[in-house]
Amino acid sequence: MRTHAYIGLGANLGDARQTLATAINTLRSSPQIFSLLEAPLYHSDPVDAQGPVFINTVVAIDTTLEPLALLELLQSIEQQHGRERPYQNAPRTLDLDLLLYGDLTINTPRLTVPHPRMHQRAFVLRPLQDLSPELQLTQGGLNALLVDCQDQKLERIK
Ligand code: AMP
Repeated sequence: MRTHAYIGLGANLGDARQTLATAINTLRSSPQIFSLLEAPLYHSDPVDAQGPVFINTVVAIDTTLEPLALLELLQSIEQQHGRERPYQNAPRTLDLDLLLYGDLTINTPRLTVPHPRMHQRAFVLRPLQDLSPELQLTQGGLNALLVDCQDQKLERIK
């Protein structure tokens, strides 16, 4: 069975734009991922993180991967891009988050879905809105949630 899922991507070290493009291509060519749709790219100031400005986007996929298998794929793509975790929220070459997996709620030590902070982050909500304007999160609609993130600087770059 195919499930509609959303993945958040962010990078702020090295050639961030190229890193995101390569990561998206890897996802697109994964055997159990179908019909990948890309939101535009955005520049965002780091939230709870350090280092240069981030480039963020969101992709929507249909997948036959189970949630944990999808997380493992995301982590393997992060590792291909040499991500290190010297300390929490350190600057990262590439960060991939499983935002939504159908309408499933998951609360396990390795995986929390919906992603617990997505409703507070303009750099997730805005590209999500570009892909699926009518989407409702538990906390509310995307427009209303974006109003609460107005202080987070975000600039569309593509
Ligand atoms: P981060 O450093 O923010 O990328 O967090 C990575 C850790 O968060 C990993 O240990 C994952 O197992 C865990 N995690 C929990 N829920 C999620 C999720 N929805 N998407 C990505 N990582 C998650």
